[in-house]
Amino acid sequence: MNPLLDFTHDPAAQSWVESANQPDTDFPIQNLPLGRFRPAGSEEPLRVGVAIGDQVLDLKLALQLSPWADDLLPLLAPLATGDLAAYMALGPAAWKSVRGALWRALHEGSEQGPFLEMCLLSQDQAQMALPCTIGDYTDFFIGIHHARAVGALFRPDNPLLPNYQWVPIGYHGRASSVGLGGPLRRPDGQTRSDSGVPRFGPSRRLDYELELGLWVGVGNDLGAPLDMAQAEQTLFGVSLLNDWSARDIQAWEYQPLGPFLAKNFATSVSPWLVSFDALAPFRRPLTRPPGDPQPLPYLDSAFNRGHGAFDITLEVWLQTAAMRSQGQPAVRLSQSNMLDAYWTAAQLVVHHTSGGCNLRTGDLLGTGTLSGPTPGQGGSLLELSAGGRQPVVLPCGEQRSFLEDGDTVTLRACCQSPGTARIGLGHLTGTVVAAGPGG
Ligand code: CA
Repeated sequence: MNPLLDFTHDPAAQSWVESANQPDTDFPIQNLPLGRFRPAGSEEPLRVGVAIGDQVLDLKLALQLSPWADDLLPLLAPLATGDLAAYMALGPAAWKSVRGALWRALHEGSEQGPFLEMCLLSQDQAQMALPCTIGDYTDFFIGIHHARAVGALFRPDNPLLPNYQWVPIGYHGRASSVGLGGPLRRPDGQTRSDSGVPRFGPSRRLDYELELGLWVGVGNDLGAPLDMAQAEQTLFGVSLLNDWSARDIQAWEYQPLGPFLAKNFATSVSPWLVSFDALAPFRRPLTRPPGDPQPLPYLDSAFNRGHGAFDITLEVWLQTAAMRSQGQPAVRLSQSNMLDAYWTAAQLVVHHTSGGCNLRTGDLLGTGTLSGPTPGQGGSLLELSAGGRQPVVLPCGEQRSFLEDGDTVTLRACCQSPGTARIGLGHLTGTVVAAGPGG
């Protein structure tokens, strides 16, 4: 039995919001992700809402118009003021209480229903924003199939470096350029040239990376590392993350200090934070290939071995400008699963703090590209096209080794397994636009 399940995970539960009961919705009553929004076209201050079906429950209005139990009011207060970070800082007991309260309020037959009906806004009328200010952004490398595939492009005889099975590899990224999807300006940069003098101009090998974003709820003090049990109390939720990457800039600049301008021009995240409570039915044992070393003790716990991994299916979809103009829908480029990751979310938190580094509310951890073991499961074009040598052929006949201007990339993720309600993370869409000033 999964010790983390409660009434909010009941797969039979239905909402009085009809669209939340559709079998293919990402946002049934078992999910209840939080995000920030304002009514589209308005200049109103940002509010916090809950995604339910194709609607957003406006928590500012919900606090004004519906009765709530007295003990919930202090927990709901930051949500009513639009401060999602302040709510994330309250910690897991508060998150669980509020999740239960929102579930009851949105459940079919709820006495709060008539009040809350007035607090719904259609999601297509909501302009989403980043969930909170991101203080720091760290990107990891936990997709071992990605690490092996990319390593093989550069080191065919030695694709996986010896530290990989021991250290959750990561680097400190750039928080200022993290945003939601939308136009993605092709970056200019310095790349290798046969002449010996590097070229400066638009990247010719622009790529996406299929990742999940892990959002820190409760931070730790500087000099106070977290253990595996504490790490389970640290992360608030997950979103999709696209780590746009300029491979040609990366190849020239990355030695000896790692990624820099090849990564920092843009990182995109999806706006709804799906809580770890919502993900509880999709926790799985962490498995390692036979013969691989077990993690060092500071990265190990019985709970992590039994429940540390997550069954989350991830997909990448592409629609080119030509497909769009011909009315052709996007095509799926790949599908993979978070279960193939080598390290768990909790291990990333523990490792990040193990030397004394402090995490803070609103910090963002990227998992790294989540690829599967087969060639068609690469979470980047670099993998799918074998470094550009074998272009991906699209159904319309076009080919892609890397992204062209006008290409629209959409990431999706969902969790589904027998005996549970399907939940999704929504989608994350970005369209490449030409390099140039103000593009
Ligand atoms: Ca990455």
